Amino acid sequence: MGYVNCRSCNGSGIKSVWRDGNRFQPAGFKTFPCKACNGTGINQNLYSKSCEKCGAEIVYPRDASYPPKYCKPCKQTIQREKEQKAAKWKETRCKVCNSVIKYNTDWNKIPDTCKPCIEKERAKWKTTNCKTCGATIKYNTDWGRVPETCKPCIEKEKAKWKSVRCKWCNSEFKVNSEWKNKPELCKKCQQKIKDGQEEKATIWRRFRRNHDPIDKLPTQVIWNRHDSADTSHHMTMKYSDGYRVSWEATKYGDFAFHWTRDGVYGPERHEPPEDATVR
Ligand SMILES: [Zn+2]
Ligand SMILES: [Zn+2]
Ligand SMILES: [Zn+2]
Ligand SMILES: [Zn+2]
Ligand SMILES: [Zn+2]
Repeated sequence: MGYVNCRSCNGSGIKSVWRDGNRFQPAGFKTFPCKACNGTGINQNLYSKSCEKCGAEIVYPRDASYPPKYCKPCKQTIQREKEQKAAKWKETRCKVCNSVIKYNTDWNKIPDTCKPCIEKERAKWKTTNCKTCGATIKYNTDWGRVPETCKPCIEKEKAKWKSVRCKWCNSEFKVNSEWKNKPELCKKCQQKIKDGQEEKATIWRRFRRNHDPIDKLPTQVIWNRHDSADTSHHMTMKYSDGYRVSWEATKYGDFAFHWTRDGVYGPERHEPPEDATVR
């Protein structure tokens, strides 16, 4: 802050006037202290400082609450620059939450997502390790599940699976080339054997004899099933001694058991064998 010279005395603090002489006093200059500045030479109402931008002198009233920072031309320049800068700021909306996003036309790219939404999305990405090779896997919590295996490992695993045709039903199923015992039958047909064997075991228990049932092929169902009107099956189980037992299988149960002896005609044809458990 500098002082401003008194304009009245030009900073000298002294004023002078020319006095015509008279009888008592010769003519000449008479000096006296400047009344405007009380003889200090300093303007009592003003201060002076330099513009913070261009250094030009700014004179301002002493009673101003804040000294000005800039001279008038600089103030105008600053204001103009501010307006130009403000004009570059535009608004768009976040594509996720529709909130207002401010962007500058100088930017390379107009943002389409607000910062909180970008942060939220980023936080959804986590990493885990492939259980096979240990590689880092990135995943998004939106997926609802954490992947266990990396893509290359999945591809490798996929390549091990080959399509083959079921020996029985000719349908396609997958076999892993690393399996030691590759199945020749599809799952459905394997289940059929399993079901058949369970049923077979029950029937064997029921009709246990000293003679084995004819069941040469392990995958073949040991009894013959003939559909009759959809509700009953005529079941037959053959034995190696020429006997066979037959019955009707319905959803209400089995009935009408009868034995038949091959090559025997007359009343003995349907006599049950000595060791028959069911007569
Ligand atoms: Zn003065
Ligand atoms: Zn200035
Ligand atoms: Zn948003
Ligand atoms: Zn892996
Ligand atoms: Zn099959």
